[in-house]
Amino acid sequence: MWRTARRLHEALAGRVLTRCDVRVPRFATADLTGQTVTEAISRGKHLLIRTDAGVTVHTHLRMDGSWRVRPASERVPGNHRIRLILGNDTWQAIGYLLGIVEILPTTAEPATVGYLGPDLLGPDWDPAEAERRLRADPSRPVGEALLDQRNLAGIGNVYKAETLFLRGVSPWRPVGEVADLAALVGLAQRLLEANKDRFGQVTTGSRRRGEETWVYGRAGRPCRRCGTPVRSADQGSDPESRVTFWCPHCQT
Ligand SMILES: [Zn+2]
Repeated sequence: MWRTARRLHEALAGRVLTRCDVRVPRFATADLTGQTVTEAISRGKHLLIRTDAGVTVHTHLRMDGSWRVRPASERVPGNHRIRLILGNDTWQAIGYLLGIVEILPTTAEPATVGYLGPDLLGPDWDPAEAERRLRADPSRPVGEALLDQRNLAGIGNVYKAETLFLRGVSPWRPVGEVADLAALVGLAQRLLEANKDRFGQVTTGSRRRGEETWVYGRAGRPCRRCGTPVRSADQGSDPESRVTFWCPHCQT
């Protein structure tokens, strides 16, 4: 999401919107043309595009959504998967199958996405606040708590699994029994930071195909440290990122 936001920011920020095509019924008549986009930022999995008129376009990819940035001159084929097009004289940003599209006053953002915990890649990243939120529910399995965007925003399933492996912590251990939660959160932040500029997610240091992760996506294959088969199981209620991976020997 951080990369998507940056791409949209580069295409839209500082430029006047000349095209605004909202294809969701509730906002179909919204017209932001003439407004200048000031920024596009991500908040966890949410994307916020702000204009100088105090308007925010809030979108969320959910399961199948994606954004594409194309030259303004390119004809966009009529496509029933398109939910939103925002364009200027140079670029057009096309949102496909977005799970959420809404247009709101920028001042109303906190009511919409304000429940999100501190963003690991945000300028206001606050590890102490993230830890405080995580500890508020000490009996919750840590693998579940790390994915809850109300605790901290930005950890997806890959970084959850990999961070827990690297810290030797089982995803099933209650948060209250994780000795050094600050180190865990700090490591997750560093892994995200290290990967934010590249395509693909690497936590092992090797970019070779099949060597990118320690446990994520490796169910049944030998642990890279001890050889024990990596296990996987469903955890938590989020259908997008339910499956978790861990080594039953290295992680307790
Ligand atoms: Zn192991």
